[in-house]
Amino acid sequence: MPDTIFSKIINRTIPARIVHEDDRCLAFHDISPQAPVHVLVIPKKPIESLAHAAEEDTDLLGHLLATTTNLARTLGLDAGYRVVINTGKEGGQSVDHLHLHLLGGRSLSWPPG
Ligand code: AMP
Repeated sequence: MPDTIFSKIINRTIPARIVHEDDRCLAFHDISPQAPVHVLVIPKKPIESLAHAAEEDTDLLGHLLATTTNLARTLGLDAGYRVVINTGKEGGQSVDHLHLHLLGGRSLSWPPG
């Protein structure tokens, strides 16, 4: 998988406002926030998209979700939040490294565009 902007954030080639890091994932504020809280949670393993996750990634996917909900708690999103995984071209994915969007801090409408 070619380098992406997110692999550069993982290896600290470019800066990010990091809010969480452990051995398997990294979380940082989105550069163009769509809500008062907009954090991205990414695996350190370079998986191109959710569609590219393999059976062996099942534990990792669970860890990403658990990390995201822990962050929601830490960031005070007690009134609710949304977790989004844009996948592929029609799914609106623009960075080819799996990432979970954690959005909150305002009332979010549905359906998305
Ligand atoms: P997606 O459209 O689902 O692929 O989401 C990619 C997200 O990455 C967008 O919300 C961008 O604003 C965000 N993004 C792109 N470059 C950076 C960066 N250098 N630091 C933080 N977030 C970024």
